[in-house]
Amino acid sequence: MAEREGNLTPPRRQPVNWQSEQYYDKELLDNELERVFDICHGCRRCVSLCNVFPTLFDLVDGSETMEIDGVDKKDFHNVVDECYLCDLCAETKCPYLPPHSWAVDFPHLMLRAKAQQHKNKETRARDRIIASTDQVLPFFATPGIANLANAASKAKSLRKLSNAMFGIHDQAPLPQFTSKTARKRFKNWSTENSEHKVAIYVTCYGETVTPEIVGALANVLRHNDVEVDLLHDAACCGVPKLELGDLPGVQKQMEKNLELFASKVQNEFKIMSVVPSCTWMYRRELPLLFPENEQVKLISEAMVAPFEYFAWLHKNNLLKTDFPASLGRVTYHASCHQRTQNVGLKTRDILSLIPETEVTQLERCSGHDGTYALRSESYAAAQKISRPVVRRVRDSKPDTWGSDCPMASNLIESELTEPDLRKEHPIEMLARAYGLDK
Ligand code: SF4
Ligand code: SF4
Repeated sequence: MAEREGNLTPPRRQPVNWQSEQYYDKELLDNELERVFDICHGCRRCVSLCNVFPTLFDLVDGSETMEIDGVDKKDFHNVVDECYLCDLCAETKCPYLPPHSWAVDFPHLMLRAKAQQHKNKETRARDRIIASTDQVLPFFATPGIANLANAASKAKSLRKLSNAMFGIHDQAPLPQFTSKTARKRFKNWSTENSEHKVAIYVTCYGETVTPEIVGALANVLRHNDVEVDLLHDAACCGVPKLELGDLPGVQKQMEKNLELFASKVQNEFKIMSVVPSCTWMYRRELPLLFPENEQVKLISEAMVAPFEYFAWLHKNNLLKTDFPASLGRVTYHASCHQRTQNVGLKTRDILSLIPETEVTQLERCSGHDGTYALRSESYAAAQKISRPVVRRVRDSKPDTWGSDCPMASNLIESELTEPDLRKEHPIEMLARAYGLDK
């Protein structure tokens, strides 16, 4: 019987067998790449999602046979290098995920190819350094260094030098560090006992670049009588290492946080972060990489996106809805790793509770995607991907705009020619509507 596209059984991502020898067999990988690329060539649904599929289809269409067998396997890495593992193709488009017998899981196939590259030491030193966020970000947030780093990021000559020497594009928006980290700002944070508890996974980015968003989240939770604990000592979630295919590195990061997070879960805390990718990692990816690990499973079930939690409070009549301030026209960008958590449009729903507030939601990739927008070789593609989002932010003439992903909003902001448009993280918008920004 012919197999239908789509069926009544929901698609299910399968565990990644990355510790087996076969996972690193080059011939097996090439055969699997050829098989899946051929299916994608016949399907082409994902052509507008990222630069992976146009790269693949150009290779096929430019080959002698105009089929996948005409593409030199050596060129497969051109396709792999464009993938930043956002999961959008698998989670929002692909009808051929298991249980379909074609069993296409495009991001996990890209991950396997990256893991082989990493194992064969084919990754660049630059990428290995950027992926060490646990060391790099705190260094740049050191007093004295933070101001220098921020000034250097605006000095054209230095940026050109770093483009030439390190392959960091001279136009790419770099994070602005603060030596007044979340740990320093919220040192004497006291928590009140409550039936509802949230541990905020501060994350390396929240600690050193966006502590004000961490503070806004804590304030909104406490305003709604939720007990808050800040996990400053938690290590990087490992997403940068995942992007590099460094799966042993991902395991190390996972193990560093296991006891801390598990102890919070045992004490009935939910865990959330202000960076969707970090939440996504614990929620969606680590359980597939470590399917036997019961603690990872428990932690993944306790991970929750901030607005998903606010929506839960609202559903249970626990969210305060007396907002002294309105926001006007809000343009909200739903980032890829927010969308692929499959929690629905909770940010839009909660912001829409605020009086005289009209929310426009954008669901398109911003193009930032980890280090993709920073690297010299992919910056132009990132810019191209971001263009429709930038245009829609501009055309919506918002009173305020923002993305759940602080990095995505940096790229969008760098492409906007209207410097006066107010940028806020949606959590900061909510805090302002509550009057907690004073
Ligand atoms: S995971 Fe994201 S970047 Fe990779 S192929 Fe799919 S949509 Fe493109
Ligand atoms: S990933 Fe799936 S939906 Fe996307 S082009 Fe390939 S087969 Fe089609």
